Amino acid sequence: MQITANNPALRSWVAGADHSEFPIQNLPFGIFQVAEGSKRVGVRIGEQVLDLAQMAAYGYFQDLPFATSDFSQDYLNTFMKKGKLAVRALRNRIAELLSTDNKSFQLANDKHGALIPCANVKMALPVQIGDYTDFYSSKEHATNIGIMFRDPTNALLPNWLWIPVGYHGRASSVIASDHPVIRPKGQIKPDDNADPIFAPSRQVDFELEMGFITFDGKALGQSISTAEAEDYIFGLCLFNDWSARDIQKWEYVPLGPFLAKNFASSMSCWIVTLDALQPFACTTPDQDPEVLSYLKFEGLKSYDINLEVAIAAPNFPEHTVSKSNFKYMYWNMAQQLAHHTVNGCNVRCGDLMGSGTISGPTSDSYGSMLELAWKGTKPIQMPDGTERRFIQDHDTVIMRGHCAKNGIIIGFGEVRSKLLPAN
Ligand code: CA
Repeated sequence: MQITANNPALRSWVAGADHSEFPIQNLPFGIFQVAEGSKRVGVRIGEQVLDLAQMAAYGYFQDLPFATSDFSQDYLNTFMKKGKLAVRALRNRIAELLSTDNKSFQLANDKHGALIPCANVKMALPVQIGDYTDFYSSKEHATNIGIMFRDPTNALLPNWLWIPVGYHGRASSVIASDHPVIRPKGQIKPDDNADPIFAPSRQVDFELEMGFITFDGKALGQSISTAEAEDYIFGLCLFNDWSARDIQKWEYVPLGPFLAKNFASSMSCWIVTLDALQPFACTTPDQDPEVLSYLKFEGLKSYDINLEVAIAAPNFPEHTVSKSNFKYMYWNMAQQLAHHTVNGCNVRCGDLMGSGTISGPTSDSYGSMLELAWKGTKPIQMPDGTERRFIQDHDTVIMRGHCAKNGIIIGFGEVRSKLLPAN
């Protein structure tokens, strides 16, 4: 099925949509509510949200494999259960209805009011996440961490160039943008102490990541190949995988991170479909040594998505601290999914896969404070004259992302979270 919604010639009758981050070629899905009303599935167009429950009730999707109840839900999962082709057909239909060629819906909309201004809605966590897996797929990030904490001459561990390294994270603490994060407490072992102490983390950090959300995968025991992977990916979001570096340093041996990572992970509220990103597909970094056969792939498997991180504080507006790009990732999503399932592990509708911190090649493109301030040795100057080595109480971390090509911008919106003092 063709992705007609991606046609760059399409223009929308929704005022302001064409040159926004949410033009007709984007149409990301999310969960919204108006005041204290019930949650529903919406699609973003310009500064408006299209209420899909209302659209379905009016019969606009009658010939598509969806029921009105699929859109009157607290999460996108029920609708995602219908799979890739159903979602593609729906997105094509919505593009058709919102296009300047479609005067009849424009007239109908005046009557029905299926478009709601963003200012009047509250966005919610879009997906009921079953399992959350976090990868470690940026070579620059893994190298920086290796230089800082192990051996500068052998920064990458021997398995890193062979395996898309990952671990199982925690789904219960994945929260939506705009939810505050509370500084975690835990065991910390200061360098000059013989024993650990129990205290609020002193090294709360962000991790600039992107997450992808899966459709239902295959049955337990079966694998998804790199060639099939895209059929199982619904879309992408911005993802701030909050980390407490001092807790992490003490606890991570031998089983990896635990409480340093599971106190909060923040995701953006609009899921941009993989379909919408197709025009921005690009090559991935060369992989040397040659990967094992199940990790080989054909075609363009990465995406050119500009990313940035800013910090805002009560006494200064946001200040950009990093600019990176999703395309720097060494291991792509198809390889991650192929690796995740190669042993027969099943993925399910609504699983979340984090990319791992996305660091670029230059020191202003690193995806964490740990790297930007280089383990605290190069503090970052803020507009009010203060410095940051890590994130302070009452700081807000804002991540944004967008693709741009031929005058069309596909935006992800933002993931914004404020760090509150420890309880
Ligand atoms: Ca992470």
